[in-house]
Amino acid sequence: MLGSLARWLRMMGHDVEFPAILDDDKLMILAKNEKRVLLTRDLELYKRSTSRGIDVFYVEGRSEAERLAALAKRFGMPLEIDLRFSRCPRCNAAILRVPKEKIEDKVKKNTFSHYSEFWECPKCGKIYWQGAHWPKIRETLGDAKKSLGEASSV
Ligand SMILES: [Zn+2]
Repeated sequence: MLGSLARWLRMMGHDVEFPAILDDDKLMILAKNEKRVLLTRDLELYKRSTSRGIDVFYVEGRSEAERLAALAKRFGMPLEIDLRFSRCPRCNAAILRVPKEKIEDKVKKNTFSHYSEFWECPKCGKIYWQGAHWPKIRETLGDAKKSLGEASSV
């Protein structure tokens, strides 16, 4: 349910595990052992985690922007994406800037000629650039900032 949020947080540079198949007990053990904050929209899991002393955050918000704003408020997290610090949304490895000429055969011709900055995930090999989806990303971050501003002025 929070897969999309996990991808956002990784893009924002956070180390986020997103275990798809773990049950609640395993999730709590993982969070505790790795000293991670458990993010959940499951109120039962939230309560159980709290009673076990696990650092847990109950994610509220109707949109991605609202959920990001809630996290920014709770953790003082900047609502920015700086690709120098981003992690691969797909696999959580830190992505690296790659010289354009190295990825020529890995992206479409149009993409290659349109953009000059590229990043590569050293783990899964996915190539990233600030493409057509980027304005949408900025818009969501803008909405999140607006939502955070409204929340803190109350
Ligand atoms: Zn990757």
